[in-house]
Amino acid sequence: MKAYQVVEQGKPLQENELETPSPSGKEVLLKTVACGVCHSDVHIHDGYFDLGGGMQLPMPLTEPLTMGHEIFGEVVSFGDEVSEIKEGEKYVAYPWIGCGNCDLCNNDKEHFCAANKNLGINVAGGFGDHVLVPDAKYLFNAGDTPDYLSGSYACRGLTAFSALKKAEPFPHNNSLVIISAGGLGLLALKIAKAAYNINPIVVDINDEKLEVAKKTGASEIINSTQEGAAEKLLELT
Ligand SMILES: [Zn+2]
Ligand SMILES: [Zn+2]
Repeated sequence: MKAYQVVEQGKPLQENELETPSPSGKEVLLKTVACGVCHSDVHIHDGYFDLGGGMQLPMPLTEPLTMGHEIFGEVVSFGDEVSEIKEGEKYVAYPWIGCGNCDLCNNDKEHFCAANKNLGINVAGGFGDHVLVPDAKYLFNAGDTPDYLSGSYACRGLTAFSALKKAEPFPHNNSLVIISAGGLGLLALKIAKAAYNINPIVVDINDEKLEVAKKTGASEIINSTQEGAAEKLLELT
């Protein structure tokens, strides 16, 4: 198989020919259909998260690493303990995988596991033509989402959805204010409509983005650089 790997942080990815993994037990081998490039990939590649003000959070990795955690792929083979999927089916691979053997992992919180094996971060991900997923339980049907977008729902989609979950409940439209109409904010807006059937208020500093939010279903848009923005928000809520 072919993979584009980080061989040294900050340096260009290197095209490498690797042995294609052969799945055993619960493992599933996907042929990569599409893999998103996340902003985190930039930081992982750099070797640190830029925290602003010259501060850096180091992000050491085991090199060489095949990055890519927004994976959409087609099942090509699987181990003998897998029965619920078929070859040729396409799935999103949930990348936030834990050790499988600690309190967090045993209590449905494996995304917090400290001994994690996140696809594309700790172990090989989707910047290669095949990805080994440790268990079919990490595969999700993408419905009619376009192939090139599907994988990103496992990252930006979950980021937006988890923020909404923390802010529940939403008894009416104006009980939710989304600050920022960027990629995550607009996605949160779409999820708010689809999952909670509400049209939230959206705040941003950019009128163009706010117009997109309005078209996407915001009940009200507020430019926070305008005078009286806070008063308007208080009035609406
Ligand atoms: Zn990501
Ligand atoms: Zn664990």
